[in-house]
Amino acid sequence: MGDPARTVTERVVEDPATRATTYGDTAVQQGVRVAQGGKPKAAPKKAPAAPTEPAHVLKARALWKAAFGKDAQLANVRIGDLKAHSDRNRAKRPDVGKLHGVEYQAWTNSSRDVYVNTTLVMLSGTTMPDWYPEAFLRHEAIHVRQFAATADAVPTYLAMIKAEASAYAETVRWLDGVTWLPAEKATYDAVYDALEVVVTGFTDRSKVTATELEHKAWMVTEKYLPEHTPSAEPVPRPLSLYVR
Ligand SMILES: [Zn+2]
Repeated sequence: MGDPARTVTERVVEDPATRATTYGDTAVQQGVRVAQGGKPKAAPKKAPAAPTEPAHVLKARALWKAAFGKDAQLANVRIGDLKAHSDRNRAKRPDVGKLHGVEYQAWTNSSRDVYVNTTLVMLSGTTMPDWYPEAFLRHEAIHVRQFAATADAVPTYLAMIKAEASAYAETVRWLDGVTWLPAEKATYDAVYDALEVVVTGFTDRSKVTATELEHKAWMVTEKYLPEHTPSAEPVPRPLSLYVR
């Protein structure tokens, strides 16, 4: 790896907002439905939506719809605010670090929900061009498909690392086809290079012989997963990742 890549690596470390990952936090209690009372005339109650969604959520929903509105598997995925989701999650699971505290651009841990951060559209005071949030939404979409293919389960941390290596490689391939404005070239190059470094990191790690706890520690240290404590996990869980 040459100097340019190393520079990008350092830049990424310095600016964690450019790090992006999602995938695999089992902490979220999702899909809990409350049985509805029997008022026949009442219109079916939808999940209580916030009166106004933040701009980055609306933007992400629009991009998602444009990209996947006709995709049977992805069209109905819910896009929500990462910070709100993280705060709700943390209220239930104090052992899990704040997802937005590590500045993920977006996050998913199921085939149904994707959560997006403000940094997806506004990074370091700069409004990012649409290809930037779209790249990360498409990255999440890969994870959504991965989760759907495994009934929302990820058997091991190593499997998660391999899934990320594959998903980031696909994300970089998608970026290859992006058309950017001349003024966006520096941003595009930085993002592209940073994601290539991430691909290399995951790919290399996937070849390391290590225990599951060591793989977990690597994910947490690299901030691909929030801190989480296995002992605090209720059992059984939809994913067994933290139960060991
Ligand atoms: Zn990912």
